Amino acid sequence: MNSDLQKLIDLQEVDARIAALKAEVAALPQQVAQIEAKLAGSKAQLDAAQAGMKADEIARRKHESDIKDQQEKISRYRDQSLKVKTNDEYRALNHEIQFAESEIQKLEDKVLEIMVATDARKEAIKQAEIALKADTAANEKEKDHARAQTAEDERQLAELSATRKELRSGVAEETLTHYDRVLKLRGSVMAPVYEDESCSACRVRLRPQVFQEVTSNEQIVTCFYCNRILYYVPPPPQPEEAAAKNAKTGHGAKPAKEESVEADEAAAQ
Ligand SMILES: [Zn+2]
Repeated sequence: MNSDLQKLIDLQEVDARIAALKAEVAALPQQVAQIEAKLAGSKAQLDAAQAGMKADEIARRKHESDIKDQQEKISRYRDQSLKVKTNDEYRALNHEIQFAESEIQKLEDKVLEIMVATDARKEAIKQAEIALKADTAANEKEKDHARAQTAEDERQLAELSATRKELRSGVAEETLTHYDRVLKLRGSVMAPVYEDESCSACRVRLRPQVFQEVTSNEQIVTCFYCNRILYYVPPPPQPEEAAAKNAKTGHGAKPAKEESVEADEAAAQ
């Protein structure tokens, strides 16, 4: 094979790997941002669970203080009721006492509700803390992985850049110019040609003479349609060869082979 052709095939592979690595390196900050966002989500969940607990605590204290106020009211009313002169006044105070008692009942129910909810609150906080701890550990691990991945990518990029430079240094300038132009335009330059005699990239059929030139793999031939550089890939071993191989190991086309050998011998006599 023409040495430029082989170098260009290798070069395209190197260029493709460089592009993939660069894309990976470029995507890593976004990946890290996603990891951070997930951790921030777990933190917010724990904050919310703790805030809920705190709000309950404040409400409970308020209810208890209100209960105390109502109890004080009741004892004031009782003191007053000892000094009243009329039944109407007495009834009015009694009514106030009943109202305060029903208020106390309502407040006590609310306190009880909060106390019942406390267990669930505590469990939610516990779960949020466990999740946060796990996410923090995973976060560190994933960030370490991302950092290691970047370092490894950078190392490979440096290696590939050196290989790329070396490959390019041996190729004719005008061929490189063509290569770079088509790579930029089409994303790939080297197009294998198989037995169907067409450019495998753009599917256009080659003229017989062009196909002949390509099969030699001794010169730079470009596709007249897409401008890619063509190279020939010979067909894989034929079925006859495979059958012959099988015949040696005692499988497949053995009888046919023996017959043909006999026929050959008969013909020779
Ligand atoms: Zn083409």
